[in-house]
Formats: sequence, C-alpha cells, structure tokens
Amino acid sequence: RVEELRVSERVIDLSNVTFGYTATPVVEDIDLTVDAGEHLAVVGPNGSGKSTLMKLMLGLLEPDRGTARLFGEPAHAFDDGSRLGYVAQHASASKEMPITVREVVKMGRFPHVGFGTLSTADWDIVDEALDTVGMSAFANRRITQLSGGQRQRAFIARALASEADLLVLDEPTVGVDAESVEAFYELLASLNDRGITVVLIEHDLGAVTDHARRVVCLNRRIYFDGPTAEFTASDALARAFGTAAVMGESS
Ligand code: ADP
Repeated sequence: RVEELRVSERVIDLSNVTFGYTATPVVEDIDLTVDAGEHLAVVGPNGSGKSTLMKLMLGLLEPDRGTARLFGEPAHAFDDGSRLGYVAQHASASKEMPITVREVVKMGRFPHVGFGTLSTADWDIVDEALDTVGMSAFANRRITQLSGGQRQRAFIARALASEADLLVLDEPTVGVDAESVEAFYELLASLNDRGITVVLIEHDLGAVTDHARRVVCLNRRIYFDGPTAEFTASDALARAFGTAAVMGESS
C-alpha cells in the first residue's frame, strides 16, 4: 500500500471552511491541506475548535461555507473505510463492548471482507498489527481491562489491520500514563516512517514540539501552520491562547 501512494497525494484539503453548530462560527476561514506522509499536530486551547476541525476533515460534519475534501473526494461522501483510521478519545472504556483486543483489531478487516470469514492471510494481518503496536501479549485480554495507553494501541492496531494510510487521532494521550506517552509517540513516528499520514490533536505541547514535524495552532482561526521549530520560536501560541501564562498550564 505504501508503495502505491503517490508522493504528492493530497489527503486532506480544507478550503475556506467555516462551520458553527449555531449561527456563531466555531471554526472560520480555514485553509488547510495535508499531503500523504505528513505528521501534523493540531494544538489550541480548550474549546478552540480542534475536534470540530477533525470532524470536518473526516466529513463527519459539513462546512457551512467552503469545501472539505478527503483523498480528493468531498469529505462527507468519502466512504472507503479501509483508508482511514480514526482513533477517537478513549479516556474511559465504559462505552466499549467487553470484547477482546484481537476482536477489536479483527474489525479492521471488515472493510475488506465484509462481515464474512477472515482468511488465514487476514488473520496474519491482524496479528502483525498487534505485534506492530506491541500488544500481542494482550490479544485475548478484554478491551475494558486495558490501561488508557494500551487501549489506544489496540485502536491503532485496528487501523493498521484495515491497512489505513491516514491515521487521525483526537487527543490520544489523554488517560495515558506519563511513562507510556514517549513510547506512544515513538510508535506514531515509526508508523509515519512507514508512510502513514498522521494527524493528531494534542493538548500536551511538550509532546508536540518533541515529535510532530508540522504544527497547526488553532483558535477558531489558524494562528500558525508550519514546521514545529518555527512554531516554537513564534508568538503564535501566546496569541492563540491569549496569554503566555495559559500556555504554561497547558503544557
Ligand atoms: P476543542 O476540541 O478545541 O476543545 P471543540 O471543537 O470540541 O473544541 O469545540 C469548539 C466549540 O464548539 C466549543 O465552544 C464547544 O462548546 C462547541 N461544540 C462542540 N461540539 C458541539 C456540539 N455538538 N453542539 C454544539 N456546540 C458544540
């Protein structure tokens, strides 16, 4: 799959996008493109529209104005579930079914086999995905019995099993213990090295500046979009967050 990707493929394309749940826009005049192979972090204060932006990217919400495209198609009409892995916030397992890790990862094959039986080759892909995220030893553990970080890994494995080339994660390190965050980011970096496009919302600014190559700083509008080093040196954060003091609290 990675070899099939054209280097210049545009994965996400938001053009002049404005959206509000009411008459008041939550995100406004957003121009944002992501090409295949990028590793991008979206940062911003609470309520700045990050989750909304993610849902617009994925076509879960439709813009009031402007256009949102995903893999070149109108985002809301995009339906190739095998290309896209979305890891929503999973701080709590309460809403998850008491199924095992392997059963969760198996779901990644459904876009390929329907609800039919998995072949040996499909199961090999499932087990390889478990191995890649370091969860083989937990394959038969119930998803409800995992730590936050382990659960996120299981959902990433599900995306790998579907052979997704875009991984979108909404605050994946919420509920992940501090010692595991570093390893989690190393996993994301290794997936990105394999050619998977990674887009994540992150509240942990230290993690962002250490690991993401590109940062988008959002507070209704985009305050900064560029290489992480330039972001660190800029005043975008202070402008987007209002005061430098808030920035300290958020990191
Ligand atoms: P962030 O992810 O940066 O915390 P969100 O995109 O979740 O921001 O929210 C942006 C704004 O939109 C907030 O003011 C929030 O209260 C509002 N909002 C989010 N989801 C909904 C919804 N489903 N209905 C109405 N308002 C919403």
